Amino acid sequence: MDALEQLKAEVTECTRCALSQKRTNVVFGEGSPNAKIMCIGEGPGYYEDQMGRPFVGKSGELLDKILGVCGFNRTEHVYIANIVKCRPPENRDPLPEERTTCLPYLLKQIEIIQPTILVLLGATALKGLIDPSAKITQVRGTWLIWNGYKVMPTFHPSALLRNEQLKRPAWEDFKKVVTKYRELVNSNHFSAHC
Ligand code: SF4
Repeated sequence: MDALEQLKAEVTECTRCALSQKRTNVVFGEGSPNAKIMCIGEGPGYYEDQMGRPFVGKSGELLDKILGVCGFNRTEHVYIANIVKCRPPENRDPLPEERTTCLPYLLKQIEIIQPTILVLLGATALKGLIDPSAKITQVRGTWLIWNGYKVMPTFHPSALLRNEQLKRPAWEDFKKVVTKYRELVNSNHFSAHC
């Protein structure tokens, strides 16, 4: 069993925080173990909890669409994970202590996968990984450096579904990701729209 599978087996049994009590499935994450881009979201919603997979509802469809326009997909270029691996009841934000308890799993995933670029999807990912006082509206679209990784914070796809006006700035953020990917990973990366 490789390191990622080993970690998945461990997380699947986890009862370290109260979110374990009402989950249907642990949502460990999915994508290419060799991905150079890692997208990090908040936590599982209803459909993710039911299926045990990240970003499978409407937000997931939108994320896949955005990634597709960038020339990326989950099987080749991207690995997707969340700050917490179990669904918070009623889709509430994960509590700071839940984020802190679950974070070591995400850190281990990052350490194993060694992506070049991290894309933080929304405020919880930004606060959970980088700085609890950071504001997504202030730092989105700006490259951050965290532990040597290039980090692009942007809006969560669910925010784009709620507010159409955020789609344009989010698209600008993803265009920066494509440019950085060409610079650092593959200068010949093809994307039809940017
Ligand atoms: S959210 Fe994370 S820490 Fe809490 S039970 Fe699930 S896997 Fe464990």
